[in-house]
Amino acid sequence: MIKKGILIIISGFSGAGKGTVVKELLSKGDYVLSISSTTRKPREYEQHGREYFFDSRDEFERMIKDNELIEWASYCDNYYGTPKKFVESNLEQGKNVILEIEMQGAIDIKSQYEDAVLIFITTPKVTDLKKRLEKRGTESSDIINKRLKRSYEEVNIIDKYDYIVINDDLEECVEDIHSIINAENKAAARNITLKQKLIGEFEELLKGEI
Ligand code: 5GP
Repeated sequence: MIKKGILIIISGFSGAGKGTVVKELLSKGDYVLSISSTTRKPREYEQHGREYFFDSRDEFERMIKDNELIEWASYCDNYYGTPKKFVESNLEQGKNVILEIEMQGAIDIKSQYEDAVLIFITTPKVTDLKKRLEKRGTESSDIINKRLKRSYEEVNIIDKYDYIVINDDLEECVEDIHSIINAENKAAARNITLKQKLIGEFEELLKGEI
């Protein structure tokens, strides 16, 4: 029996650098990334099927109706959701799946997948968020304000996460996340197949004795 993969949820305030952290994790570790669907318009550098599946509201609502999403949320006037099929088939194949999603969706996932690992990323200071969003230049000041207000609401529920990681130094942040996943991978509850294997070996060794 293949050991199931770990479902890893990464969230963080807008501007905390989640995208860069996830890219680094993927380049250095054994993970697959789930591509979400969204009704948001693509940014200049984004491609359909790479950063997101950019869908119409009608298509998104159809996916909700047909139960094709594990979770979905409305964030700053757009829908975002996680396709179910990809996540479940990869977990079954033993792959560690990363979801980069906002907090409502993360909490919803935890209620469905108890053993999902919820990691929250933040900058050391809130003022860094604004600076980073302005420097990124992909959103108008109106939308930046909306996102900061949303983050102010979200800060109340960061204690629902399993881990909080500071993104001050990128390498360190990525290293911290690798260590968390490494430790989770060794959790006894995730190693039931090893227990079965050890029982089998004992029975073989002690044949006739017990
Ligand atoms: P952005 O527009 O900056 O790409 O994403 C806005 C927010 O939506 C981010 O917090 C991002 O993590 C979140 N998000 C992206 N995909 C999903 C998803 O499938 N479900 C949920 N609930 N949030 C998502």
